[in-house]
Amino acid sequence: IKPVCECNPCYGGPDCSMFLTDCAANAGSGDPYFLEPFWMQRAAKSAILVAGWHRMGYTFPDSSYISTQLEASIHKVHAIVGNAVTKGKYIIFGAGSTQLLNAAVHALALENNSSSPATVVASIPYYRLYKTQTEFFRSVDYQFEGDATSLQNISDAGNVIEFVTSPNNPDGKLNKAVLQGPNSSAIYDRVYYWPHFTAIPTAANDDLMIFTLSKLTGHAGTRFGWAVVKNKSVYQTMTEYISESSNGISRDAQLRALKLLNVVLETGGREIFEFGYDTMKNRWEKLTNTLSVSNRFSLQKIEPQYCTYFQKIREPSPAYAWVKCEREEDKDCYKILEEAKVDGRRGSAYAAEERYVRLSLIRSQDDFDILIQRLSQLVKE
Ligand code: PMP
Repeated sequence: IKPVCECNPCYGGPDCSMFLTDCAANAGSGDPYFLEPFWMQRAAKSAILVAGWHRMGYTFPDSSYISTQLEASIHKVHAIVGNAVTKGKYIIFGAGSTQLLNAAVHALALENNSSSPATVVASIPYYRLYKTQTEFFRSVDYQFEGDATSLQNISDAGNVIEFVTSPNNPDGKLNKAVLQGPNSSAIYDRVYYWPHFTAIPTAANDDLMIFTLSKLTGHAGTRFGWAVVKNKSVYQTMTEYISESSNGISRDAQLRALKLLNVVLETGGREIFEFGYDTMKNRWEKLTNTLSVSNRFSLQKIEPQYCTYFQKIREPSPAYAWVKCEREEDKDCYKILEEAKVDGRRGSAYAAEERYVRLSLIRSQDDFDILIQRLSQLVKE
């Protein structure tokens, strides 16, 4: 029983069991509550208790900002999952991957000693923060220009930095860089490249890759992410960025990340990835079945694919549904879903048409069940 203040907003009463018939399904934000039951079952072994005197200083005893134990656990988790080559590469910690995304733009922009600002692009549909964050800093070194494909046939586009999200938010596709020129570099945002959300066809070996605890263990609130970087000078500039902006990452967050990763590693990742994959696969199956009775809405197509981690062909299990309203007159898909009491995210938030809406599938089971209820009702009508 949860305290009333912790009830899902669709439930009320003294023990959160009363369904409030009028509420909207929350399929908006990407809070990864689907992993909450996993951690509830491992409450004691995943807990940390920090004494008041512990780690009061700015650095670890070896004068570093980075826990070497945590760095070793990160190498290990990539090695057992086989999702990224980290050997011989540098690892940088950030306050979530959010901080590292801009650290990477900053570092790549400075790599090329050009007098004009670097152009920052991404393929549509793309995660909104790439644009909002890049514009927010108003740097003289880089500028957000939008769609990557618009530069595809330009022979000298100057220094270009391409965000590649793989799997993509919102549509779960395993994207690859569309720009390959001598002056272009890519930031591979691989925060969803874990067996919960996708097959792992191969170990990614990109020059700059970004990961986060938020989507691996689900602890978005801990604000801990890491970058895996091949080039030494990019690594040094990113490290300087983190040092100048925040004097390194909270030692408390690192301690919690270490504890959680070590629970993940206990079973070679089997327990969390099987739980994550089963949960997400079942949700995708339910959603596709629910929408299949109508041709008014369609979903992105993801084929079953061989996964080197599970060593079998596995079914799709994306973090988000990228819903398209198919009818000519349904131009504002968000509004149609909103009227049916489904709260998603507008296609325009991903630089796509309003005919699209993203629905988050990684929230709690209550949120997902209510989403299915609302959608069943809508397609029935
Ligand atoms: N990249 C992508 C593609 C995301 O979807 C998110 C979270 N929604 C992030 C980065 C940021 O995650 P965090 O800062 O929690 O690591």
